Amino acid sequence: MPTINEILQTMDYGPAPESTKEAQAWLDQHERRFGLFIDNAWSPAADTFASTNPADGKELAQITQAGAQDVERAVDAARRAQPGWVALGGHGRARVLYALARLLQKHARLFAVIETLDNGKTIRETRDADLPLAARHFYHHAGWAQLQSEEFADYRAVGVVGQIVPWNFPLLMLAWKIAPALAAGNTVVFKPAEFTSLSALLFAEICVQAGVPAGVVNIVTGDGRVGEAMVKHPGIDKLAFTGSTEVGRLIRQATAGSGKKLSLELGGKSPFIVFEDADLDAAVEGLVDSIWFNQGQVCCAGSRLLVQESVEQRFLAKLRTRMDNLRLGAPTDKSMDIGALVDPIQRQRIEGLVEAARLEGCTIYQPACELPANGSWFPPTLITGASTSAGIAQTEVFGPVLVAMSFRTPVEAVQLANNTVYGLAACVWSESISLALDVAPQIKAGVVWINTANQFDAACGFGGYRESGFGREGGKEGMFEYMTPLSEDARPAAPLVEAKAKVKASESNDPFAIDRTAKLYIGGKQARPDGAYSRAITGASGAFLADVGEGNRKDIRNAVEAAHKASGWAKATSHNRAQVLYYIAENLAVRADEFAARLAAMTGSKDPHKEVQASIERLFYYAAWADKYDGLAHQPPMHGITVALNEPVGVIGIICPNEAPLLGFISLVAPALALGNRVVAVPSEAYPLAATDLYQVLDTSDLPGGALNIVTGSADELARTLASHSDVDAVWRHDGSAEGCAEVERLSAASLKRTWVGGAKGRDWYDTKQAGGRAVLAHASQVKNVWIPYGV
Ligand code: NAD
Repeated sequence: MPTINEILQTMDYGPAPESTKEAQAWLDQHERRFGLFIDNAWSPAADTFASTNPADGKELAQITQAGAQDVERAVDAARRAQPGWVALGGHGRARVLYALARLLQKHARLFAVIETLDNGKTIRETRDADLPLAARHFYHHAGWAQLQSEEFADYRAVGVVGQIVPWNFPLLMLAWKIAPALAAGNTVVFKPAEFTSLSALLFAEICVQAGVPAGVVNIVTGDGRVGEAMVKHPGIDKLAFTGSTEVGRLIRQATAGSGKKLSLELGGKSPFIVFEDADLDAAVEGLVDSIWFNQGQVCCAGSRLLVQESVEQRFLAKLRTRMDNLRLGAPTDKSMDIGALVDPIQRQRIEGLVEAARLEGCTIYQPACELPANGSWFPPTLITGASTSAGIAQTEVFGPVLVAMSFRTPVEAVQLANNTVYGLAACVWSESISLALDVAPQIKAGVVWINTANQFDAACGFGGYRESGFGREGGKEGMFEYMTPLSEDARPAAPLVEAKAKVKASESNDPFAIDRTAKLYIGGKQARPDGAYSRAITGASGAFLADVGEGNRKDIRNAVEAAHKASGWAKATSHNRAQVLYYIAENLAVRADEFAARLAAMTGSKDPHKEVQASIERLFYYAAWADKYDGLAHQPPMHGITVALNEPVGVIGIICPNEAPLLGFISLVAPALALGNRVVAVPSEAYPLAATDLYQVLDTSDLPGGALNIVTGSADELARTLASHSDVDAVWRHDGSAEGCAEVERLSAASLKRTWVGGAKGRDWYDTKQAGGRAVLAHASQVKNVWIPYGV
C-alpha cells in the first residue's frame, strides 16, 4: 500500500478556471474597439493597435493610438473642469471618490478578470491583491478629500496632472495615481501602458456612473509617443510617472526648466536579506511572494537574495524544493501561482539576461515545469555563483529571476544591499528585532519590510531613493505630491536684488597690501582655491571690499568628498544637531554689528541689522525643528505598524540667493543641516562675504568639519559641477536664474538626483511661509517606510 506521502505526491490540483463570460461580454459590447475617454465622452476608435492576451497570444480588442491633438483636447477638457472640481469642495469630492471605491468593489470580479486577460497575471493576484488595494486607495483618499481643508489648509491643488503608468499593475497604478490627484482637487489626463489599457477603459465607464464631472478624468491610450506629447504639453502642471528609469530620465530632461512638478517612480533591484537567525521557512514564503508575485514584473521585487553564509545551503535547498512546487499555467485558473509574462518582447529580454549569466559561468536552477505552447512564459529561475558586479546582479530583470549571494556579517549585508544604483525597497528577515531595526535605517531604500514582503497600503507612502526616483505615493506624504503651498503663489515675480555687484579679477599687485582674500571652507578648514584665482568683490559704493577665492570643479569635488567623510553628522542625534545650530546663532549674535556692517558695505542695505537678526532667528527656527520633524506611525490594515521615518537626503549642493545674502544662505543651509544632511554651499555670487565671514563663527560652534562646505565663485559653473556630480544627492538653486535652474534640472537627470529650484521668481526670505516650514523640510528629507508586523 502506498504511504500517505506517496499519495500526496501523486495528487495534483484539478483545473479551477474562473469564468471569463462577463469580461468577454463587456468586450463584445464595445465591439472590441475602444476610442479615447475625454470630457466624459468616447471618441470613435481610430488608428488602432491590438491588445492581446499574453497567455495565448489571442487578440482581445483594438485600442486607439492617441495623437497630439487628442492630448490637446484632453488637457483642454481637464483645464476647463478643474475650477469646478475644486469648487465642489472636499466633501463633494469625497463623495465621488467614495462612489468610485464602491463601484470598484461592486465590479471587482469583472475588473479582476479583465486585468488577468490583458496582463497575464493570475486571477488569484488580481482578485486578492490588485482589486482590494485599488478600492482601498479610493476609500482612503475619499478621506483625504474630506479632511483637506483641515489637514492641508496652506496648500492648493497643482492643477492639471498628466499621469503615465506601466503595464505591471495597470489598475492598481491607476488607483495610486488618480485617487490622490482627485482628492486634492486636480483634474487628470491619464495614460495606461500600451499593453494593458483595458482596465483603465473599464474604469472610465465607472467614472460616469460615479458622477465624476466631465473633464475631471480623461483617458488617452497609446504608446510612448502619447506619453511624450503629455510630457511636452505646456498645459500640464504636474507629471506623475511610473515606469523605467530610462524613460524617467528622459522625462526629467524634457521637463527641465518648465516649472512642472514631477514625481518619478522608477525601477529597482531590491535586496532580500536573510540573517541566520531568521525563520527560514517563513523567509522562503516571503521570497516566493517577493520575486515570483506577478512573474517578478514588480518594481520592488526582491530580486537579489542576500543570505548569511552559515545558513546559505540550507536556505537554498528549501527554496529549490519550494520552487519545484510552484504551479505555472493558465492565469484564469484559480490554483495557479505563476501566470504569463506581459509580452513576448519581455520574455526575449529575460532570456537574454539569463543566457548572459550562464555564459558568465553562473549556475541556473529552474524547476522542471512544462510551459504552455502558446503565449509568453518563463519559469521561476534561481541564479547562483554571480559576482557582485555581474550584469545579472546589477540589471533590473523585471521577470521571475532571482540572483542569490551570501554575506558573513551585518556590515557586509548592508554593503551588498546598497551596492546598486537603485533604492526602491528591501526585505530584512531576522528574529532579532534589534538587528532588523539596526539594519533597516542603513539601507538606502524608500521601503523596508521586516519579516514580510510586498506589503502595500494606501495609508503608507511608497517610492524610491537614488535612481529609483523621487516622490511618494500613498499616505499623507503622497498627498503633498499633488499640492502646491499657497506661499509659492505669493512669491515676487523676480528677485528683489538690484543689478549684480560688479566682479572682476583682482588686480592688486602690492606685495605689502594686507591680503584680504577670503578662502574656501572645505572639511572644516579654510582652503585655497585649486585654480589659485580670486575675484574682487566691490561694495555698493564701488569700492573694493575683498577678494574671494574662485572655486572650480576640483574644489567642488574636494568639498563633496569632505561632505561624504562627515557621515557622522547624519548619525548625530537631532538634539545634538539642534545644539550646534543654536550655538552658531549665538556666535553670530556676538558678532552682529560686524555682520551688519559687512552687509551694508556690500549691498547698501539701510537696515542691515534686520537681516542679521532675521538670520539669527532663522537658525533658532531650524534648531527648533531639528528634533521635531518627526515621522509618522501608520496603521495599515495588518497586525503591525508602518513607521515613516524622515531621513536626510545625503549630500546637498545649494546655490544661494543674491537677495538677502546672509539670510538667504542661512535659510537654505540651516534646514539641510538640521535634518542631518551635509552641505556644499555656493554663497551669493554677487555678495559672498556674508558667508565667508561665517567661517570663524562655524569654527567656534562645534559643527563637525565637512558638514558644511562653502565654495565661492561663479554660480553657473559651480551649479553645473554639483548637478553633474554623481555623489551629490540633491541640488537646490535659488538665485533667480531661470536658465541656471533649468540646467540644474537637466543635468540632474543623469543620476536622478533630487532638485529644488526657484526658477526666475524671487522669494521673500523674511517671510517664514515662503522661506520656511514643512515644505522646506520636506526638500531636506526623504521618507522611508519601515513595515513591522507583529506576532509572526
Ligand atoms: P516604460 O518606462 O517603458 O513605460 C512606462 C510608461 O511610459 C508606458 O505607459 C509607456 O507607454 C510610457 N512611455 C514610454 N516612453 C515614453 C516617453 N518617452 N515619454 C513618456 N512616456 C513614455 O516602462 P515599462 O516597461 O512599461 O515598465 C517597467 C518599468 O516600470 C520597470 O523599470 C519597473 O521597475 C517600473 N515600475 C516602477 C514602479 C514604482 O512604483 N517604482 C512600479 C511599477 C513599475
